[in-house]
Amino acid sequence: MAKRPKIDADLCTGCGVCVDECPNKALELVDDKAKLTHPDLCDGKGECAEVCPVECIAMIEE
Ligand code: SF4
Ligand code: SF4
Repeated sequence: MAKRPKIDADLCTGCGVCVDECPNKALELVDDKAKLTHPDLCDGKGECAEVCPVECIAMIEE
């Protein structure tokens, strides 16, 4: 099962750290919130979740 980041938009500050960290450009800021706009590019390794300063990304099996 592949894991994908689930972002809690209520907690996301829009800092963009996860977007910068993603090696596959799967994340973007949309209306100042992180969003997995390219799930097809995501490798599920979870660097985004590890670097989020407010820990609002959970890696969920899909
Ligand atoms: S799990 Fe990896 S590839 Fe997927 S969005 Fe996060 S950093 Fe990018
Ligand atoms: S690192 Fe966390 S707080 Fe910053 S944009 Fe990404 S999800 Fe939002």
